[in-house]
Amino acid sequence: MKRNLKRVLCLCLTLAMACGASLMSASAVEGAEAEVPAFIASRPDDPAVIPEGLEIDWNHRYTYAELEGQLKAMAKKFPGITELYSIGTTWQERDLWCLEITNERTGKDNKTGIGVFANIHGGERESASSAMYTAWWLTLNSGDDYVKGLLDKYVIYVIPVINPDGYEQSFINNNRPNLRPRDLNGDGVPFSDPYTDINGDGYIATLYRGKADDTPSTKLARFGMESPDWDKNGKLGDDPRSSGIDMNRTFNYQWNRFDIETVDTQVVGNNSWSSAGAGPATEPEIQAVQDFLYATPMHAMTTLHTGIQCVLYPWCYRTYDADNPKDGEIPFMAETAEKMAKQFQATTGRGFYWKSSYEDYPTSAEMIDYAYGRLNIHAYTIEVYNGGTSGNIEDCKWENKLPEPTWVFYSQEDIRTKLGLDPAALTDADGSPLAEDEGLWFYTSSVAQMVDKAPDDQATMVKGARDAILTMIESEPHGQGAVVPRYKK
Ligand SMILES: [Zn+2]
Repeated sequence: MKRNLKRVLCLCLTLAMACGASLMSASAVEGAEAEVPAFIASRPDDPAVIPEGLEIDWNHRYTYAELEGQLKAMAKKFPGITELYSIGTTWQERDLWCLEITNERTGKDNKTGIGVFANIHGGERESASSAMYTAWWLTLNSGDDYVKGLLDKYVIYVIPVINPDGYEQSFINNNRPNLRPRDLNGDGVPFSDPYTDINGDGYIATLYRGKADDTPSTKLARFGMESPDWDKNGKLGDDPRSSGIDMNRTFNYQWNRFDIETVDTQVVGNNSWSSAGAGPATEPEIQAVQDFLYATPMHAMTTLHTGIQCVLYPWCYRTYDADNPKDGEIPFMAETAEKMAKQFQATTGRGFYWKSSYEDYPTSAEMIDYAYGRLNIHAYTIEVYNGGTSGNIEDCKWENKLPEPTWVFYSQEDIRTKLGLDPAALTDADGSPLAEDEGLWFYTSSVAQMVDKAPDDQATMVKGARDAILTMIESEPHGQGAVVPRYKK
């Protein structure tokens, strides 16, 4: 159902853009003087001069330490418009950096706060690149009239990685959760059998039991994950470095709202109840983000993700209710999300749709519901990347060719001699060993092969995200500080 809705919406977007192109541009020109604030001139492209240490390849995948170096270089090179500080730390004591960007000479008191957050899901690293590019573009272009105008009226807070532990882990294995210590196999040692590349191809394979003459497929019986069996219990990779917690289901708003009364009428939370943590805001990363949002005057925020290509707005946990005063800002956010998605599509040439998050798929305790529900902040999820090729813009994919999945067979003799493991000691999760004529098929998916690479044309993606974010910023009132009609934090 979700897929059909998405297709219909994307089709509408495409038709609107194709059929209404001349109409839209005509009305945009007509309305320009009335609607566009005077300070908005044309947006500059990439900066002409790039300071030493800030030559960043936007088609490259950087480690978290490298991102930290880039943020520090921006703060050092542009001290009059930036402050760099940590808003908290992770389980593994990595800092959650915020680069605050504004013209410090004009102060902060009468400005509009804007939040740009990314990578709450560790493996979604294109989102971090998009936030980093936005910060880089704003700082390096700070001499430009358009950007100057922005920095005189807004304070922009960029937190490019909310989940740095998950981000780093994703260089080994694409990992959505954070790294709260967990003991998945119950042997008393957290993370006691982490996924490890044992055949030296650089990637982590999923293992299936089978015979050499089988046609390999994910329909074969799953045996485990690539690992040297660190904990020596015979089950390969049964305690990986992953908490299992989806931090974007753990905010302190409508946490895990799912019970017998909602099971038939809606599916809120049921796709995530087991990964929503032990209670609201249990994770240090989310506590830090909530505290920061609570303490920082902010009119609008966005959280960047990957996996689809769209702009979503609240609610995540229910549909819009025109009679509910709590829903008062939702028509405005719907309108802004539409502009943002159209801008993303115009910049990148790839399809983007917009929708209420609930209508895309129901969840609860997401960041945008927390920001809007608790704090009245206009809140948007921007999904920047959906890998793969379809040939149709309405499918809203990035249209990049991903590596072909690979299958390699290891006989029991190969397992012994090439991998150094005793095949007789190995079992699947249920404790069932290999039959005499069985071996292991190593499956390395496209995703597994992309762990250390950025997708094609990421440099275009990050510009699309920047333009969607600028569209969000321009939609917010400015010049009166926090005094905004019908809208108060
Ligand atoms: Zn995500």
